[in-house]
Amino acid sequence: MATEDLYEDLDKALLSEKAAREKKNTFRFALKLVSRFFVFLFFLILLGFLVMGRMESLLNDEMETLVARQAMTRAQVVRVRLMGEQEGMQRDAVALGEGRVTSEMVLAAVAAGEPGVVAGLADIAGNTVMGSPLPRSLQKQLALSGSGARIIRYYADAGIVISIPVLYGGNVRQVFYKVYGNELLQGGYLDLQSDMGSNTLLCDQSDGRVIVPYEGYGPGDRFFDENQQVPRGRDEILERLSVENAAAVYSDEIDPDNAVFGAEVLPGLIILGYADWDSIVANVGHIHRLVLWVFWLMLLLFGIFTLYSFTAELKVSESDELREAKKDADRANQAKSEFLANMSHEIRTPLNAVLGMNEMILREAPENSPLRSYAWNVKSASETLLSLINDILDFSKIESGKMELVEAEYSLSSVLNDIFNMMRFKAEKKNLAFHIEVDDTVPDSLYGDEVRVRQVIVNILNNAVKYTQEGSVTFRVKWKRMPDGNALLQFSSIDTGIGIREEDMGKLFSQFERLDLQKNRNIEGTGLGLSITTNLLRMMNGELKVTSEYGKGSNFTIFLPQKVEHYEAIGDFRTRAEAFLRQQNSYRESFVAPDAEILVVDDSDMNLYVVENLLKKTRVQVTRAMSGPECLERMAEHHYDVIFLDHMMPGMDGIETLERAKAMEESKCKEVPIIALTANAISGVRDMFLKKGFTDYLSKPVDSKMLERMLQQYLPPEKVLDAGEFEASAGETQNEEAMPPSQEAAATTAPEAEGFYVDTETGIQYSGGSEEMYRKFLIMFCQRREVVQNQLAEDFASENWEDYRTHIHALKSTSLSMGGVLLSKEAKALEMAGQAYLDAPEEEKEAHLAYIRENHAKAMELYDKFVEEAERRELLE
Ligand code: ADP
Repeated sequence: MATEDLYEDLDKALLSEKAAREKKNTFRFALKLVSRFFVFLFFLILLGFLVMGRMESLLNDEMETLVARQAMTRAQVVRVRLMGEQEGMQRDAVALGEGRVTSEMVLAAVAAGEPGVVAGLADIAGNTVMGSPLPRSLQKQLALSGSGARIIRYYADAGIVISIPVLYGGNVRQVFYKVYGNELLQGGYLDLQSDMGSNTLLCDQSDGRVIVPYEGYGPGDRFFDENQQVPRGRDEILERLSVENAAAVYSDEIDPDNAVFGAEVLPGLIILGYADWDSIVANVGHIHRLVLWVFWLMLLLFGIFTLYSFTAELKVSESDELREAKKDADRANQAKSEFLANMSHEIRTPLNAVLGMNEMILREAPENSPLRSYAWNVKSASETLLSLINDILDFSKIESGKMELVEAEYSLSSVLNDIFNMMRFKAEKKNLAFHIEVDDTVPDSLYGDEVRVRQVIVNILNNAVKYTQEGSVTFRVKWKRMPDGNALLQFSSIDTGIGIREEDMGKLFSQFERLDLQKNRNIEGTGLGLSITTNLLRMMNGELKVTSEYGKGSNFTIFLPQKVEHYEAIGDFRTRAEAFLRQQNSYRESFVAPDAEILVVDDSDMNLYVVENLLKKTRVQVTRAMSGPECLERMAEHHYDVIFLDHMMPGMDGIETLERAKAMEESKCKEVPIIALTANAISGVRDMFLKKGFTDYLSKPVDSKMLERMLQQYLPPEKVLDAGEFEASAGETQNEEAMPPSQEAAATTAPEAEGFYVDTETGIQYSGGSEEMYRKFLIMFCQRREVVQNQLAEDFASENWEDYRTHIHALKSTSLSMGGVLLSKEAKALEMAGQAYLDAPEEEKEAHLAYIRENHAKAMELYDKFVEEAERRELLE
């Protein structure tokens, strides 16, 4: 309870910390958004002002140009009027030149016309020859006309002067001129003023003097500049007119209400006037409005853009968070995988000890004792735990994409065999019938990942047994040849179990999902099995189909394509499997290898003890080593038939030890199978060990059957004996140092006493602790007495000391394992003498031979006594 509270508090603390972090983040983000918005707004307004200012100045320029153009038009009008005057004079000049009128007549007509207009005729040098003479300054214009030019020009001191050349027979002889004095102009002649509008005056271009004022011009007038006593803006216009023909200026300083304009009427004469600015601007007000609209539109666009950039930013920051979160998740996943891999090793190691010790209890506890049933419970719980760990490991491998298929040639019948044995046993325990139906024509030799094929089939069959309370489980195997020549295998598990509801079918393959929890609460499971199965099938291009009727049963069918190595039909599998099962059971029971010697290397003495004890029954001689260097030492000294080498050891680990062993020159164990022992049973590990040079691997916790099976496979076949033939083939080395504990006692007992010749305690000890086994061996040993004695007698008679030594050596070890301590001792002495004879130089041989000759009979006698005592004690019944 306290732990739960602790977790709850921890959860709460973590949640509130997360909430505070999120709140802080949101606040920070909002602050960022608002400040960004204001900065944007500020720049927008600034831009607006800039644009407006620029627009206004552009508009002013434009308006000024417009007004200037109007001024030019007005000046043009005046010019056209003067041109009209000039045309009139031209006509007179032509009439004069053609002699249709006289000079006097022409001048008289002028004099009779407008008063104040003076006219005259000059010679081509500009000297007046008739009419009003002109000041010298004007003679230049007349001289120019004398060379053929028609000229209209203004002079400040004279007024407007128009001069026309008069041609006589194609040559200029005279210049006709008229002068319109300033008074005349001021008097309204030429209609200059009325043409130019009310606020227009004429000025002298050279100094800006007003020549013709408009009405009311003078001090007090709003266009009259009091300080300078001149028209407002005159200087600005004069300045501009020095480079242009027309100009207009609008400025607050000159006149906030009017624009000043000016244009050249004639060289030296300009018009200057004022136009109401508002009425001018009114004409182009729509442009102004347009500009404003554009500005507002821009403002709007900016607003939208800002909004968009904010949301984009929001998304980016969200996706940043997502990316960060994904990274975190990946890291967590990685940590999870590593944790699972480590956990595998950490849990398997103590489980090894639990299962091994438990196996000891199971072997030694009396039948039907409560201890035995407790041990069975421990065994079943530990095995469940193991399969659970395996499931979780597989699942984590699949999840992290590290699951790999290891494909090789395999025999389907062997896979089916294992499955059959395992499932039949499980079904039997639940009182379920287990049927197997295998199509006789299924090809046996296939290519694929045998382990995974077995795993997916076992998964669906295990479920069938698990979720069936009564009835049967049927395992059916069929196949079809595919067009590409491969086989499409079909493995069905058909049960009469609880079935699956229609609505639960969809959840069937989800990870950690268990259905119908009400009904299934007592059934162990993780909800991973089917998820692993479907994933493995997907990797193998297979598929799983399920049909089920709730309350009646389910049918899980695996479809799996596999390459066919050769088309050899599996045949009547069922009959064979059952025969094999019988044979396997009987074989295993009677398997012994007293002559075999193995080396077991593990840093944990508990593991060594477990292995040693598991092998007691097989009578295999076990030598222990507790580290890599110790292992190498032993290998250098002695030959072993098989070596079991632990993978994880402090200092030099199993792999390094193996490498060194292979490189070792002085090894007595070259070519010896070396089998890795490992608690790390992650899939793919077998492949790794094989690659490293191990012959095979055995996973810890060591399963006694697996261990025995492996020994049967890797021990030299001649050392693996059927117990029935034990005596006949017995003749292998026993551990000579391992003298039985009761040996000394036996030696001091009287010959008649029980146990003098036959030490049953020692015998039972050598028979894996089983009295039953001992008795079996004992009978064989006694029955074989004659055969053995005859064999030795023959060797003795024929002086074949080589064979004699071999046979007496066999008797030495067999008799010891039967409890014939004295016999064994004698046989050993004879063997040593035989060996010494064979090894000794010629001159020393005889001494050894003498010993054999003397003691052979004694040994034979001890054999007889042994049998006698056994018979006397009724040990052979
Ligand atoms: P579990 O470890 O729970 O058995 P699985 O992934 O193997 O996990 O199966 C998922 C669920 O599917 C099981 O919990 C069970 O409810 C249902 N299920 C699987 N096989 C059968 C079956 N043969 N009969 C009925 N229900 C089944």
